[in-house]
Amino acid sequence: MTAYERLDVNAKQDARALARWEGEGGRLMPARQGGSEASLESTKEDVVEQIRRVRQVIKSRATIEGAGVHLHRAIGFGPPELYDPFLLLDDFRSDDPNQYLSGFPWHPHRGMETITYVLRGEVEHGDSLGNKGVISPGDVQWMTAGSGIIHQEMPKGDERGAMYGFQLWANLPAATKMMKPRYRGVTSAEIPIVIDAGGATIKVIAGTAGGVTGPVRDVVTSPEYLDVDLPAGKSFTHRTPRGHTVFAYVIGGKGLFCQQSDPYSYEAVGGNYFDMKRERLIGDGHLVFFDDGDTVSVVAEAEPVRFLLISGKPIREPIAWHGPIVMNTQEELRIAFEELERKTFIKDRG
Ligand code: FE
Repeated sequence: MTAYERLDVNAKQDARALARWEGEGGRLMPARQGGSEASLESTKEDVVEQIRRVRQVIKSRATIEGAGVHLHRAIGFGPPELYDPFLLLDDFRSDDPNQYLSGFPWHPHRGMETITYVLRGEVEHGDSLGNKGVISPGDVQWMTAGSGIIHQEMPKGDERGAMYGFQLWANLPAATKMMKPRYRGVTSAEIPIVIDAGGATIKVIAGTAGGVTGPVRDVVTSPEYLDVDLPAGKSFTHRTPRGHTVFAYVIGGKGLFCQQSDPYSYEAVGGNYFDMKRERLIGDGHLVFFDDGDTVSVVAEAEPVRFLLISGKPIREPIAWHGPIVMNTQEELRIAFEELERKTFIKDRG
């Protein structure tokens, strides 16, 4: 039996936890003791759980996207089935406005979802459904393109020029590729923060951790999206459904992502072929892709580690992908681009 204590949603605490990674001297808030909101989660201790081993560690690669945005791509190279149901993971953290202000002007999407998580700065967006808004620090925007959306995403940074954020693309199964498009804007205040028994502070964006379920629900691929902050000397264990695709993307510090002490026991993909370092501890800007199993286990040794833990149910369907449109067949892609030319792409205007 593991007891968890829920920490009330509080934007200030959120900001302080975040500040710890930004050299502003922030400090984590302790969990509130007791209280009616404390929740319990039971685990069957008599069943031997298999810890997911690390299959691959990938260093995110510098890429230019949109109208000239310099970013680092962690997922999106190689066969698109590799991380099914996820297609792409872009890390757009930068302190130089010249690297992001050109943004992502009006462009279409169909057949997939984009999940944008902002840590610093702001992203302004507008779309063909008539939505217009700003994604602020700590907010998440979950956009289901479905049958088609045309939108723009313009990173603006903060007063110091910093723009930190991540965009994940999740595929949609054939049955829902042409669904009605929808947006879910989740503000920082709506994202619960829990401190688990092991000492990790977890922002639960989607899925469940520490007995608390995040605000993004009802997504076809049952994704889980956690922002985990693990202090030095602490460990984090989290159950993930067998058969689901699971990866961690490190966004601060360094951690040990399983009990494999030999860094040659998994594949390492560097930025180029001179990049041959294999380290026991995995640091900022690296994606850790796990093998199948029951739980994910992470240990922070002398320094803390912060990572996004993302999982989803594989779709296992053929993928036909070109630019921002992801379908099942080449014919569907051809139709999508023809419709764009004929201006019949948008099926639903909200
Ligand atoms: Fe987009």
